[in-house]
Amino acid sequence: MNNTTSEIIEQRYDPREIEAFWQREWANEELYRTNTEVNKDNTFYALSMFPYPSGSLHMGHVRNYVITDVLARYKRMQGFNVLHPMGWDAFGLPAENAAIERETSPSTWTDKNIAQMKAQLDRLGLSIDWSKEVTTCKEDYYKWTQYIFNQLHKNNLAYQKKATVNWDPIDKTVLANEQVDAEGKSWRSGAKVEKKELNQWFLRITSFAEDLNQDLVKLKDWPERVRVMQKNWIGKSIGAEITFDVKNHEKKITAFTTRIDTLYGVSYLVLASNHPLVNQLIDKNDINKLNEFRTNQEKLSDLERNSDSRKKIGMYLGVNAINPVNNNEIPIWIGDYVIMEYGTGAVMGVPAHDSRDYQFAKSYGLPINYVIKPNNDEDDSYLNNAYVDKGIMINSDKFNGIKSEIAKNKILEFGSKEYWAKPKITYRLRDWLISRQRYWGCPIPIINCKKCGQVRVPDRDLPVTLPIDIKLTGKGQSPLKTKTEWIKTCCPKCGIEAKRETDTMDTFMCSSWYFLRYVNPENAENPFLKSEIEKWLPVKQYVGGIEHAILHLLYSRFLTKALKSCGLINIDEPFNKLLTQGMVQATTFKNPNTNKYYSKDQIKNIEDPKDPITGENIDIIFEKMSKSKYNGVDPSLVIDKYGADTARMFILFKAPPEKDLEWDDSDVEGQYRFIQRLWKFIINCLEIINSNSRQLIEEDKCKDEEALRIINKAIKEITEDLNNLQFNTAISELMKAVNGLSSIVNLCSNETLKNVISLLVKITSPFSPHIAEELWKKIGNTKSIHLQSWPDFDLAAIEQDTFKLIIQVNGKVRGSIDASKNLSNEKLQEIALKNDVSKKWMNGKEPKRIIIVPNKLVNIVI
Ligand SMILES: [Zn+2]
Repeated sequence: MNNTTSEIIEQRYDPREIEAFWQREWANEELYRTNTEVNKDNTFYALSMFPYPSGSLHMGHVRNYVITDVLARYKRMQGFNVLHPMGWDAFGLPAENAAIERETSPSTWTDKNIAQMKAQLDRLGLSIDWSKEVTTCKEDYYKWTQYIFNQLHKNNLAYQKKATVNWDPIDKTVLANEQVDAEGKSWRSGAKVEKKELNQWFLRITSFAEDLNQDLVKLKDWPERVRVMQKNWIGKSIGAEITFDVKNHEKKITAFTTRIDTLYGVSYLVLASNHPLVNQLIDKNDINKLNEFRTNQEKLSDLERNSDSRKKIGMYLGVNAINPVNNNEIPIWIGDYVIMEYGTGAVMGVPAHDSRDYQFAKSYGLPINYVIKPNNDEDDSYLNNAYVDKGIMINSDKFNGIKSEIAKNKILEFGSKEYWAKPKITYRLRDWLISRQRYWGCPIPIINCKKCGQVRVPDRDLPVTLPIDIKLTGKGQSPLKTKTEWIKTCCPKCGIEAKRETDTMDTFMCSSWYFLRYVNPENAENPFLKSEIEKWLPVKQYVGGIEHAILHLLYSRFLTKALKSCGLINIDEPFNKLLTQGMVQATTFKNPNTNKYYSKDQIKNIEDPKDPITGENIDIIFEKMSKSKYNGVDPSLVIDKYGADTARMFILFKAPPEKDLEWDDSDVEGQYRFIQRLWKFIINCLEIINSNSRQLIEEDKCKDEEALRIINKAIKEITEDLNNLQFNTAISELMKAVNGLSSIVNLCSNETLKNVISLLVKITSPFSPHIAEELWKKIGNTKSIHLQSWPDFDLAAIEQDTFKLIIQVNGKVRGSIDASKNLSNEKLQEIALKNDVSKKWMNGKEPKRIIIVPNKLVNIVI
């Protein structure tokens, strides 16, 4: 290794010079290249969610990658074979839109952005193995995305159907349900999503609903809230299907309910307006009314239709059904709060025990029949509203008087015997819509033949390459539809002329298996090898944003299970441990009346901020960094000014990783000062060690034990903190150690001093790798610090000065306290009487006698 900077004992700390130098050295030496000959017990796969190549790194990225990097470095020092890769989630609409705007091609734009971001990433000093890089828009990657699609199609896990889908009118594309937020808006464009009936490709994620739900309990090292979000999204409910006869009609209606105990209270049935029976049941004179109803309903998102607060609109179909439990005649309605895709598209209306049904019944004057009352409650105030809790059965014939929870089973049993009820489990989860009518995505490898129907492109003919030179307009149908020479092909089965599928895949499909490809990205024969996957996966630590809780994280879990069911891999879950890092926030200046944001420069007086235009008061708050709020901090500028080590340390120190982090320039300065202090401290120690004039006398060693205690305590605490991902407390331990050692190094032997600073630099190295490497070389080492072992702590060295002093009261052990060794009896007595343990047990009484066993115990007799 080249030692040019190390050979000169340099006093000045210049991060620019040191960091660029070591980054080049590490790259030249391929220091972070993954060891390929590994066994699965000794591997550690440290993974950050890969970025979308937008062109510039933001602080959120920096936080994510630095956290993963610290772990990768720590685990490498602990002797694990570490896989720490990086790649690019490179297909998608932003590139297509940017290309249209800039009159370039998405591929050129993406390549340029990747080069730019890679250079920015390199400046952070991340220990990434770039030989593992994957880019999802490159042929050598998407060939395998298509191969996986083929496998799913072969196993009946991919299919096309006509369905009512979410349509984003801004991006002009369909969206999966997971990509529509809680307000019915597109996850990307923010547009209000519309409903359209279209022919689309789906993946059968619902086949794995039960596994996805059940296996959540295995993910003990995932944040609780991510598991809860997935559980709710999957939405398992256990209930029953009830079959209702239609009066004077051969048709039957099946409704799903989780509340069969309310069956005697059913006062109407309500169907989704697009339920297949509606057209058959409705009076022909009402067809126009029905069409009008459907048109109005299309304007609502699923969420609005489900909302409790919105007034529900319904329409009586003019026919009645028979409630099988009591043969009561009940009217059949359609209602805009019933969604065909959920349950059976038919709901039994029980206004007395369901809030939405209650509102509906009140609007249309339908009967409200209470069949459950609160337990032992004589108060009848529950009759003023929907009573949704459990209780005691009433008005329910032979089930009266029993608990409603028990009645559930009894009524189900009764109905099963009479063939009008059966147990049923349903899930809220819908199949994953993966086709997109846009250009910049992975082509779906299907050929449409007039004779054979949909035929898979044979694996040997993959990839189906995405054509270049396409005129993109961002409007209308898929741009691939204009490429007639690309569409025209032959049927792989019968050989006649046929047409290629022009839909491309949702980019989430490309990103739900990339972690498998990283293991052997150079493999030209397979997407991955089962045996290699088993060595590295599940990923030991995954780090990324909470926004993917039910998008990427659910899709990846599904695809892992699907690939296992196809026999391609042997793992059940992709990610063992998940850390969702908090946001990086910074100060914004916002006018609360106009919601307009200003940059700091626009505010004249920070102490009394006013709107520069209106003169109104301005709120100063912390919000997620964003260009539109003028509060972004460019990582490159921070690195230019302070160096990557300072940026890394600040980000790790400022907040626990899962919490939001508030950017503060003065705290960055503070971290920079600490790094300089560390530098000066080590240089000072080296000067002491190298000093010829130093005549070692016995006194110089008097602080050896203290120095060893401090450094071993630091190793112990930092090891524990790293195991618990508590980087902020780890760094404060480092600071404590440097402070503690600074005052005593003059009184330590050379041997101890050298040992202590070597250990200190080692435990610093995962956090600030550049300065650690430079100091390590200055100490006189030749091999990189990043190839050293993580030090073990010496418990004896930590405990040498203190012991547990046992406190007894009247001969009974009541507790213990830390005390320094070799204290006088007077001092021990003083400590024993002053602490909370003895105060509590003495309860204000005076001690009669005090027995002291030095270095062991104090017995207080009262
Ligand atoms: Zn054919």
